[in-house]
Amino acid sequence: MTDVLVVGAGPAGLVAATVLAELGVAVRIVDRDAGPVEQSRAAIVHVRTLELLDRIGVAERAVAEGVRTTAVEVFERGRRIAGFPLVGRGSEGRTPFPFALGLAQDRTERLLVERLGQLGVRVEWDTELIGLHRVPSGVRAVVRGAEPIEARWVVGADGASSSVRRALGIGFAGRTYDQAGVLADVRLDGDPPADGTIRLHLTPGGFVGLFRLGPDRHRVFGALPRGLAPAGTEISHEPYGDVPEDRLRRWCAEVAGTAVRDVHWSALFRVHSRLAERFRSGPVFLAGDAAHIHSPAGGQGMNLAIGDAVNLAWKLGLVARGEAHERLLDSYEAERMPVAVTVLRGADRGFALETAAHPAAVWGRAHLAGRAITFAQRLPPVRHAVFRLFSQTWITYRDNPATGGVRAGGRAPCGGPRAGLRHHLLVFGDPAAGWAVEAALDAYAVPVSVEVVPAGEHGLRRQYRARPPWLVLVRPDGHIGYAGPADDLDALTAHLDRIFVRRS
Ligand SMILES: Cc1cc2nc3c(=O)[nH]c(=O)nc-3n(C[C@H](O)[C@H](O)[C@H](O)COP(=O)(O)OP(=O)(O)OC[C@H]3O[C@@H](n4cnc5c(N)ncnc54)[C@H](O)[C@@H]3O)c2cc1C
Repeated sequence: MTDVLVVGAGPAGLVAATVLAELGVAVRIVDRDAGPVEQSRAAIVHVRTLELLDRIGVAERAVAEGVRTTAVEVFERGRRIAGFPLVGRGSEGRTPFPFALGLAQDRTERLLVERLGQLGVRVEWDTELIGLHRVPSGVRAVVRGAEPIEARWVVGADGASSSVRRALGIGFAGRTYDQAGVLADVRLDGDPPADGTIRLHLTPGGFVGLFRLGPDRHRVFGALPRGLAPAGTEISHEPYGDVPEDRLRRWCAEVAGTAVRDVHWSALFRVHSRLAERFRSGPVFLAGDAAHIHSPAGGQGMNLAIGDAVNLAWKLGLVARGEAHERLLDSYEAERMPVAVTVLRGADRGFALETAAHPAAVWGRAHLAGRAITFAQRLPPVRHAVFRLFSQTWITYRDNPATGGVRAGGRAPCGGPRAGLRHHLLVFGDPAAGWAVEAALDAYAVPVSVEVVPAGEHGLRRQYRARPPWLVLVRPDGHIGYAGPADDLDALTAHLDRIFVRRS
């Protein structure tokens, strides 16, 4: 019997297992494949995801291995027409990671497997889930290649065609677009995008993008133009094979004016937009692509998956340790489903705008889009909105059972104190206020680090918009769990009682 069984060792499953292992919870993780993916797939790790990976000790390694990307440049017919920063104005002081990181998914996964190993958990490869049954103690999972596994909870992080989701009979409604996309990792023959930038070429068929992924390796992506796929081949979400090299080279030369020397990897895929009707059934949860899939516009998929995993796993960890009430788990779907809906809607709109084949849309892209982008990029609110949208720093969890008080639910400034997976309480006021709060916290088993912010510390006070005496409880995922007056301990304990178990 284990506390948690994680099914699927993609980004969502690996992050969930790592958080649980860090919290000292008994966790097993199985995957039907023989090892981590070998393709580069999701190649952009956004600000919010780096902040989350930092909490499990993976961000620094990822940053050391990846390519920092800070701007997007838009080209039309070979001419640069606009530039957007990928980081907001002054964002150096607003996050420890003021860039989008170009890092291939296989490398991200290997870093996570390594971190999990350091915590004493090995992924059980070649172990496919084939059945799930409810038992009084939780769930019995039937797997190919090993004895059945009993667990109190199961995290279904087994991707778009999730066996867990199917075993639960949870619908996956949505649509599949006629349009398909193409991804390729190539070695360019000259004319690379400027370092640290994503180059987008605006073409009548949509955007074609290009950015550096590592030494001598660039990612090319775009909506699939007619004639690139070999006739009669079926395109699925899974990579089905290479794009013929000669066609890929011709396409890159035509739309991006770029000569390709070698093609390392390429994939055509059909774009889906689907959402699971529930993210939970009793002790079983869905996370990542098992819960939602969408167009790759904006490179949000893996980032959304990692966000799910952290949100779910810290809650499961505290409940498994007997430190939080079971009802905290209800907040997983309450918080993450609206985020998934927003991302799906945005990615769908982006993809539709980008690829619509209606003559008016083609004309608009050819004659208006360039001018509209050139104009919009001059407006600071637009630039800021673009940064927030792609970096996932917009994500907030207001008005739900796991947050309370003033402005609670939002991302803490700078992604929160770099306090690992502990709750962290900032007390703005004199040390006596800190002692009173610490005494109140003593009633609960959950470990919380308390930091008294002295009156002279204006920087943090401004960031948190705190008027002493004030306190802010930051959750292990860097969101504000509670904020309110430090002298109203009744309000604080009412919030804590909703979530945490009192010491007996
Ligand atoms: C070709 C391709 C290109 C992509 N490009 C991009 C991109 O450019 N940008 C972007 O953001 N996203 C991209 N994505 C999507 C991105 O890879 C996913 O959003 C991300 O991997 C989701 O992570 P996950 O952990 O939820 O699922 P997955 O990464 O799919 O991991 C699921 C894991 O579960 C395992 N599994 C499945 N069934 C079982 C079972 N029955 N038992 C045990 N294990 C099982 C699988 O082997 C797999 O390891 C791409 C996907 C593909 C296929």
